[in-house]
Amino acid sequence: MPTRRGQKKSLKSELELEALGAPIEVRRHPAARRLTLRVSKTRRAVIVTVPAECRMEEAGRFLKNNLDWVRDRLGRVPSPVPFADGARIPLRGVMHRVVFKGPMRGSAVVWPEANGRGLPQLNVAGRVEHAPRRLRDWLVEQARADLDAQVATHAKSLGAKPRSITLRDQTSRWGSCTADGLLSFSWRLILAPAHVLDYVAAHEVAHLLEMNHGPRFWKHVARSMPRLEEAKRWLRTHGPDLHRYGAPAQ
Ligand SMILES: [Zn+2]
Repeated sequence: MPTRRGQKKSLKSELELEALGAPIEVRRHPAARRLTLRVSKTRRAVIVTVPAECRMEEAGRFLKNNLDWVRDRLGRVPSPVPFADGARIPLRGVMHRVVFKGPMRGSAVVWPEANGRGLPQLNVAGRVEHAPRRLRDWLVEQARADLDAQVATHAKSLGAKPRSITLRDQTSRWGSCTADGLLSFSWRLILAPAHVLDYVAAHEVAHLLEMNHGPRFWKHVARSMPRLEEAKRWLRTHGPDLHRYGAPAQ
């Protein structure tokens, strides 16, 4: 798309011209010493950090000069899997096929079903336009049930007292814990194998005893969740992949 002479080109229009197929986020950072570029795996976005004094034209040139690198990085990010009829999504580590059933009788909204052949199904009842939302809500409910149960188990075994559990869609961490006992978790843990969700629950509960990652902290985690190394490895390798499913986090 040519720009008119004299019209000030924004960074965005420069990049639309290149059709990267990914959103560009420009972050002006007073402390940044130079222009930097990265590709967020979890949001499939290109992030440009711009020092306070830097002109947008310069940032645009910088991006243009590094387009091959950006394309290469974007090419390695797994493609998104929206909640759609026929989509394949993991539930507790087992791949399921999503089936939008349309309006039907009965109160069940979504339920897993093994039909003996092929992948087990996640059947989503109700109007098709509401189905993605309904599926997400159901997955969040499942995550809450599993996390409530695992947090209770680890709280009992470690003698800790969590005050509340919140579910979020954070891209930066799987769980967090405040000193006054508020735990929060990513609902996406329900997509991972059960021992992974269990490990994150144990990890956050152990923070109620030790607000750090020192040897004493890890001893608490291991006492309550012996398979922690296996779970940590799984998260390192497959964790970013869990952000492919459904609408991206905002
Ligand atoms: Zn931690």
